Amino acid sequence: MPEPNSRPRKIQSVRGTHDLLPVEAARWHAAELTIRGVLARYGFGEVRTPVFEEADLFRRPLGEGSDVVAKELYEFTDKGGDRLALRPEGTAPVVRAFIEHSLHQQGGRHKLFYLGPIFRYDRPQKGRYRQHHQVGVEAFGNGAPSQDAEVMAAGDAVLASLGVTGYERRINTNGDPACRPAYETALRAWVAERKDRLCRDCAGPRLEHNVMRVLDCKVESCRTATADAPRLMDHLCPACRTHHDAVLSCLRTLGIEVVPDPRLVRGFDYYSRTCFEYVPHDAGQQGTLLGGGRYDGLVELLGGPATPAVGWGMGLERVLAAAPAAPSAAALTAYVLSTAPAAFGRALALAQALRRAGVACELGAEGKSLNSQLRASGTCGAAWAVFVGEGASPIGLKDLATHAQEDLPEAELLRRLAPPGAVIG
Ligand SMILES: [Zn+2]
Ligand SMILES: [Zn+2]
Repeated sequence: MPEPNSRPRKIQSVRGTHDLLPVEAARWHAAELTIRGVLARYGFGEVRTPVFEEADLFRRPLGEGSDVVAKELYEFTDKGGDRLALRPEGTAPVVRAFIEHSLHQQGGRHKLFYLGPIFRYDRPQKGRYRQHHQVGVEAFGNGAPSQDAEVMAAGDAVLASLGVTGYERRINTNGDPACRPAYETALRAWVAERKDRLCRDCAGPRLEHNVMRVLDCKVESCRTATADAPRLMDHLCPACRTHHDAVLSCLRTLGIEVVPDPRLVRGFDYYSRTCFEYVPHDAGQQGTLLGGGRYDGLVELLGGPATPAVGWGMGLERVLAAAPAAPSAAALTAYVLSTAPAAFGRALALAQALRRAGVACELGAEGKSLNSQLRASGTCGAAWAVFVGEGASPIGLKDLATHAQEDLPEAELLRRLAPPGAVIG
């Protein structure tokens, strides 16, 4: 029973989520426009998939041993009894859509990108959210090394367009089904002999299900214990060796510098050959801006025809945190004030005429004193204050940056503030 006269409980945002208020939302909007423009130039078309899918779409490729499935998947049974999940990453839904709409039968190359929220039941920490936003590209149907390089170049172009600099591009290869199984067997035997020096995750589930991920472990004792581990780079089959050399050669042609990183692995079987991460020079282990690679086995694993594919994903929160703060453009052009209560009706009509002419404007609230409206006009970020008096009196126009002021007829004011080519009236 609520206490008599008690106020309703204040409802807060869910832990690990965040709101974008107008100034920040405007910055996001500008960044998203920039990203969409860059990816269009690289030939990627946008795909928007639902935020929830059949849970199996994520369970099947990730496997039961994965941290994401074990701990982080937002999974639920809906009222019809279907097992659903909020998407914890962007690639599987795009692959699902690629297969479902038979894009492979429509000829040509298929290069898609997505931008939207993803969901992980993660321990919230700085820069990590339970709902965060990811942009990613997936290029289907082209197994050539130059496609890997082009995808990486598109990632660079996106970061450059946002003003993000000061990172290195780490690259490695994960081999393929021809050479990786033998390497994994050798690595498992090698790691098992050093099991007592590894963290619990590495000594347990990783050693058993995903031994290459032991090389990728961030725990210092695991890194020391595996410093001399056998490297896949030394066990590649000739086809993987040729592919990797050709990727590096394409990147040189494009002027993209990379750093070899033998510890960089993608632990799932559907990944093959190229993998890469873009990491800021000043970042800790958590600071990856962009991660991706080739996943030639995934389309088939999800029920489609064998299709080579390569892509990357980047977390928008993290990338925008690394981007210089862009000066925010004035959201408002004009703030319209009524100089007397009887002038409000005229101010209301003028604000409407300005908005119809394409001018972003705000109107001083009805019943507020001129002083109160003046204070509001000074803090709202508008470029101009527009003073409206009674009758057909001239309109006062004040430049809020220089404080220069003049009086104009109404029609002249509209022409002055409206963007070029606007239809006035
Ligand atoms: Zn470990
Ligand atoms: Zn191979």
